[in-house]
Amino acid sequence: MKHTSKLPNLETTIFSVMSALAHKHNAINLSQGYPNFESDKTLQKLVAKAMDNGYNQYAPMPGTFGLREAIAKKFDLLYRSTYHPESEIVVTAGATQAIYTAITAFIRPEDEVVVFRPAYDCYVPTIELNGGKAISIQLEAPNYAINWDEVKTKVSYKTKMIIVNTPHNPSGTVMSKEDMQQLEAITRDTNIIVLSDEVYEHIVFDDEQHQSACLFPELKKRSFITASFGKTFHNTGWKMGYCCAPKDLMNEFVKVHQFNVFSVNHPMQKALAVYLQNENHYLELASFFQAKRDLFLELIKDSKFKFSASKGTYFQAVDYSQISTQNDEAFCKWLTIEKGVAAIPISVFNKDKYDQKMIRFCFAKTDDTLKQAADILNQI
Ligand code: PMP
Ligand code: GLN
Repeated sequence: MKHTSKLPNLETTIFSVMSALAHKHNAINLSQGYPNFESDKTLQKLVAKAMDNGYNQYAPMPGTFGLREAIAKKFDLLYRSTYHPESEIVVTAGATQAIYTAITAFIRPEDEVVVFRPAYDCYVPTIELNGGKAISIQLEAPNYAINWDEVKTKVSYKTKMIIVNTPHNPSGTVMSKEDMQQLEAITRDTNIIVLSDEVYEHIVFDDEQHQSACLFPELKKRSFITASFGKTFHNTGWKMGYCCAPKDLMNEFVKVHQFNVFSVNHPMQKALAVYLQNENHYLELASFFQAKRDLFLELIKDSKFKFSASKGTYFQAVDYSQISTQNDEAFCKWLTIEKGVAAIPISVFNKDKYDQKMIRFCFAKTDDTLKQAADILNQI
């Protein structure tokens, strides 16, 4: 038999590659983004209780009503923004499925989708799987600021969607109110859909505010917002998330959702609906991770790595150009194998692996792990 690959140039995701390499060489794993500490036992017990109570069969297709209501309440509390639980919120198997489903519901062959590079690695393959064309806009290290004049030159009648991600993985930048207003102005009076990936909405530092697409009326009416409970509640392995959008967009989303997953984990939805009632469970996340960022940066401040403090997410991007002239993939392999600390090369999120000598460390780790890693990084 002969097959023609739909994604002939696609490599295995860097997160699997680097975690496997870290494991093989027994390196401290600051590469793939996940915490090395437990999620709250209270939440775990709520899952066990839901199982005991018999919630072990299919959940309703868009998610349990209780969880959708709790999500709607959170939008109201945080952003004074209304999403109707019955028609504008769908619970998904992580943000990845929400992103896949939103893109698949709308992108046809030859449609153009504007993506900012570095871009989280599931966006472009999903666009291409649907026959769409990713139109890349490269952001330059170390600020990764968006040049909106350049965006205007890339947006045309062919543009079907623009994907934004704030707080941004892997750079740790956040979009400002002015950025969102620029996006609002560019998309006004068009049919462009915005996919706003906000999985780190609760992890924003210092005096920054998360600028959700739902805060901007022109954006809200054309936006899918994607979120991840895994990032918020320290349980990435549960693969739970959700998607919100106005009803007309969500109608199309659901048509795809019902046949790529139908519905997602029932006992976890029951548990999350209860756990979300206490807003401290997500409001305390920013200070929790800010302390980790501050610790990590204080520990490596005299190293040869250069950085400006991350403004959001649990990632820190650093420049290693004072240490090596190797490209970032080779540097990360060397760092893992020879020095025992794994990181993510940022070029893999750029078009044609454009190398800016930047790598990403994940600081969602115990203080002890961060200290051990810093001891090594300071000697390089
Ligand atoms: N978007 C971004 C920017 C991410 O960093 C991640 C990883 N959490 C995802 C989407 C996917 O989230 P999930 O693990 O919930 O599928
Ligand atoms: N979002 C995580 C990161 O950026 C990884 C998710 C995954 O491994 N697919 O590291």
